Amino acid sequence: MNFSDSERLASFLNSSGFTPLKIKTDKEIIAKDLARANLVIFNSCGVRKMPEDRAFGQIHNLRKNNPNIKIALTGCISQRKDVQTVLKNKVDLFFSIKDFDLLKNFVIENFSKNLKLKTLPTSRQVKNSNNTQENIAYLSVTPKYTNDFSANVPIMTGCNNFCAYCVVPYARGREVSRPAEEIIDEVKSLVKNDYKEIILLGQNVNSYRSTSPSGRGVGGEGVNFAQLLKMINNIPGNFWIRFMTSHPKDMSDELIEPITQLDKVCESVHLPIQSGSNTVLKNMNRRYTRKHYLGLIKKIKESFAKNKPGAIFSLSSDVIVGFPGETKTQLEKSAEVMRKVKYDMVYFGQFSPRPQTAAWLMEDNVSKPEKERREKYLNEILKKTSLENNQKYLDKIFDVLIESQKGGTYFGKTRTLKNVKVTNVNICHPELDSGSKSLIGKIISVKITKANIWNLEGKIYIK
Ligand code: SF4
Repeated sequence: MNFSDSERLASFLNSSGFTPLKIKTDKEIIAKDLARANLVIFNSCGVRKMPEDRAFGQIHNLRKNNPNIKIALTGCISQRKDVQTVLKNKVDLFFSIKDFDLLKNFVIENFSKNLKLKTLPTSRQVKNSNNTQENIAYLSVTPKYTNDFSANVPIMTGCNNFCAYCVVPYARGREVSRPAEEIIDEVKSLVKNDYKEIILLGQNVNSYRSTSPSGRGVGGEGVNFAQLLKMINNIPGNFWIRFMTSHPKDMSDELIEPITQLDKVCESVHLPIQSGSNTVLKNMNRRYTRKHYLGLIKKIKESFAKNKPGAIFSLSSDVIVGFPGETKTQLEKSAEVMRKVKYDMVYFGQFSPRPQTAAWLMEDNVSKPEKERREKYLNEILKKTSLENNQKYLDKIFDVLIESQKGGTYFGKTRTLKNVKVTNVNICHPELDSGSKSLIGKIISVKITKANIWNLEGKIYIK
């Protein structure tokens, strides 16, 4: 989501007359490079402590290297009083991502002379229809997409769930959904420009509901996520639909059906469990039980078997280790769920207390080495199930979206989100015959020849 917000910020700055800094590498932006800029905006993440510390360090170095530079801070930590106090002499503007007007005024005040700006770009004002003051106008700014074949499309922002460990409801506020009409327009325009992968984003996409009157034109007021998926699936074109993130308490039967049935929706479901222990889930305020979660997984598996018989699908999750009070027996419950579900991927997080959250007040009583040990233990289970799952791909042919090329190898991914190394790049592919300069951004057929734990290898297959 932050990545997608940054694409909108970049687009706003571009159309305001700014040009991006030319930096040799996009991997590690160093303070010396950044110090050549007139304005740097940090879009911060506060989910863990490490990215927060990095932002502090970079801001400090930047100010030291260029006392005249303008620095703005947005994202998760920008509205925290403690952060604003510590950084008050280093940061010129703290703004919420929803408050583009504050950024606009800042740009006018500080740069209108240099940039010779007459007017600044405006964005459509969209208020959520619950008549709260939350403004999601910034989502209607056309983003500067990072590449030309895969696009992140935010459909909502904020969250109402208040999981005990999470800063999102404080950092982004309550859930607000974008009007369906606006989302459909953005996807149509992307498909027209040959985008192959549309990733619908939101903190809890399952509870999406377009309540804006402007949703009427495409499906009536009150379009829910299942209906939105169907509407996007009906847009003509050869493209894939992905979405994240889902909350198990909001994954309804009405939603499982289109997810496992629609032809453009990829066969890959990410359903974060966070813990397999009911006690820990309760302490986390997740509002579902392990039984409910496993019931959903069963329904998803049965529904794929019914709607896409024989199709290989993938399941992934998030698990936190070392939540306050988590015992070894409770950790074992997470291990049991992992063995049962047989995930393709799990994103582990070692619990890290975040200010403002309920867990901030709990005793962080699992030591760092023990958190590491627990993560390693669960990761060994994942390695086994991932390899087992990957072996099912051997000798079969899959659509692969090619994302990059390094020397004699293409890198891409399947609809099930498996990374694939393609080794016969010199083959004469019909896409190249028909005028494309490269296969990057194309969906091609690949025969899988090798299954590893974290990826697959294969060769381009031409019928
Ligand atoms: S559902 Fe929970 S973890 Fe996810 S964004 Fe909302 S509060 Fe955070």
